[in-house]
Amino acid sequence: MDGIAGPRFDSEHLHLVQTHYKHMQALPLPELTKRDIKRFWSHVAKGNVDDCWEWSGKSGHYGRFKVNTPEGKRLVQANRISIFLATGVDDPSRDACHTCDNPPCCNPNHLWLGSRSENSQDAFDKGRMPIPVVRAKGEQNGFAKLTEKDVKAIRKVLEKSNCITQLSREYGVSVRAISLIRDGETWRHV
Ligand SMILES: [Zn+2]
Repeated sequence: MDGIAGPRFDSEHLHLVQTHYKHMQALPLPELTKRDIKRFWSHVAKGNVDDCWEWSGKSGHYGRFKVNTPEGKRLVQANRISIFLATGVDDPSRDACHTCDNPPCCNPNHLWLGSRSENSQDAFDKGRMPIPVVRAKGEQNGFAKLTEKDVKAIRKVLEKSNCITQLSREYGVSVRAISLIRDGETWRHV
């Protein structure tokens, strides 16, 4: 490692991820009628401000909302609509990301618009990718750069100091990957 966290995707893999997102999100949102909006919220199990508001349907999946447009029916990612309804912002060049890591969640308080690479990196850091081949946890994840031994060593350092940037350089992973370890969001099984 030369001290700089280099690109963490090989190009073929990154292409797969980008294609996946492009498929769902390259177009701006279609115009939503009042009826569409009402129908949209009828699919969302709203809870308290901090709860996950899950989309009805297959669990563990992103909600998809069908909208009639002059060009025909379109499926739109539900969390994108939620962000738009809460903020008025629709940016097809960015991804609707979850702070809660719960794909069906449509609570706008748990959503943010990230750049494509931020979202891919975020998913990667959490050991969660939109293609099944990399779903495995920790070391079993073929793309994991860290070993269980590394994670234990990192935790030990973090007990004494909060030198996340330095650790990220040392181990060649992102700052976020280290902070997720610190916060117990990843590698919980170690
Ligand atoms: Zn949530």
